[in-house]
Amino acid sequence: MSIDGKTPATAAPSGDHLGTFIGGSWLERESSFDSVDPATGEAFGQISASEVADVDRAVAAARAAARDWARTSPSERGAILGRWAGLVFQNQDRLAALEARDVGKPLSGGLLNVQIAGSILQFTAGAADKLTGATLPTRSPDYFGFTRREPHGVCAIVLPWNVPAVLGAANLAPALAAGNTVVLKPSEVAPLVIHALVELGEEAGLPPGVLNVLTGVGAELGATLVGHPGVDHISFVGSVATGRLVMQAAAQNLTPLKVELGGKSPNLVFADADLDVAVPAIVRSITENAGQNCNAGSRLLVHADVADDVRSRVVAAMAEVRIGAWHEDLDMGPLVNAVQHARVSGLVSSALGDGVELLLGGGRPSGHADGSFLAPTVLSVTDRTAPIVGQEIFGPVLTVETFTDDADALALANGTDFGLLACIWTGDVSRALRMAGEIGAGQVSVNQFSDAGVIGMPFNMAKQSGFSSGNGYRGMYEFTREKAVAVKLLG
Ligand code: NAD
Repeated sequence: MSIDGKTPATAAPSGDHLGTFIGGSWLERESSFDSVDPATGEAFGQISASEVADVDRAVAAARAAARDWARTSPSERGAILGRWAGLVFQNQDRLAALEARDVGKPLSGGLLNVQIAGSILQFTAGAADKLTGATLPTRSPDYFGFTRREPHGVCAIVLPWNVPAVLGAANLAPALAAGNTVVLKPSEVAPLVIHALVELGEEAGLPPGVLNVLTGVGAELGATLVGHPGVDHISFVGSVATGRLVMQAAAQNLTPLKVELGGKSPNLVFADADLDVAVPAIVRSITENAGQNCNAGSRLLVHADVADDVRSRVVAAMAEVRIGAWHEDLDMGPLVNAVQHARVSGLVSSALGDGVELLLGGGRPSGHADGSFLAPTVLSVTDRTAPIVGQEIFGPVLTVETFTDDADALALANGTDFGLLACIWTGDVSRALRMAGEIGAGQVSVNQFSDAGVIGMPFNMAKQSGFSSGNGYRGMYEFTREKAVAVKLLG
């Protein structure tokens, strides 16, 4: 498979890199950890790990650069982002291979993610000098009032491993465009494409200290960063468990933050749905990136009248998913590492029993004895209290439940703590709109998975999926605070 008609280069990228970028220099450090190819379980390079003391150094470098960067004209910041976007597209095949090998996703999936990252940088480049405040109404002509959007100052950005290029761009571009400086901590599990993006940002003209990177274990380095009193704003993307810890750390310094956490997104299939459209999209929604997406369609909720048909079509399509290493560029790769493989396999095996039946998969796919491959898995669930329908699995594991009417569908859909995305498959527009209003989710899709056709669709979330809005101007507002100014006109 290829994207834009282009076949990405398949040269195996090196996994060697320095993980510490402070004040415009990549720094050598003593300890290191392996870059591991999830398809083989073997190391393909080494990353030198930042020291905990580097947090102080990076925050100091970001602080030192903050005033000048905030006073740079927004057009100039936009121009740097524009050059950065251009470099990302010029280097897209190399970046795609880095993300694909590090995370284990098919090469074309890596390429799509890198192209999305480039598009985010490009959009934000154009938006940088269009961020405005408001003129406020006054009680008489003797007053003038307005608002200004100002940068927070030093922003800490902490990211997960699953879609690093997209999340890197989605946070860095608005933070930098709005005039903040940044200390970024990518996930230690798959940081390579982030390092490459940062090198291109440097080449595009980001001044020293404006963007700093620390790479290492979250519980030490990440915790120190988000608890640092010199940090003015935190943007965290990751699991609910870590999100709680980050919020506790932020509470100590009363640091403002946004958190984007997990999901348990339902696909609701009504009896009048076009199954030829729905089934392939549902299968893709849980096998793309091996189900390791925050918005993965991990819950299939089907009207009882079509449940047998949908179940058998979905199982047949899941059985056809082609599995392979990143460079084979098939439909699905392995899970990101052995830890995830053990965790997801454990969740599946402990779920089986009363009220949960294995319809497909559940173990290693044949021909994949090495690496962290897990076969596409389908579980039929009749016990609505089974833990598996509430937990974020983060693997190619689909649970299937049935409902009897619209109210029952809504009760099922809203029956988890998460609220990221909900997809409604129906031919009845009135039902779709009623459901869209009632579902507890930040995003709703009708007759498609996710936001494929909408440019700049706000990446919103509800309930324990977090609180923030990504994409477009909303993404930039998150990285600003509003100041209100009131003036009495004299004379
Ligand atoms: P994670 O929570 O384990 O780690 C995320 C980041 O936090 C990593 O960089 C990690 O090193 C760091 N970290 C760990 N402990 C920390 C601490 N105590 N303080 C500060 N930082 C710490 O998540 P993960 O396994 O890397 O990623 C998977 C999770 O990310 C899933 O739950 C997924 O749903 C979520 N995610 C959400 C979105 C979204 O936009 N809502 C997008 C992608 C992924």
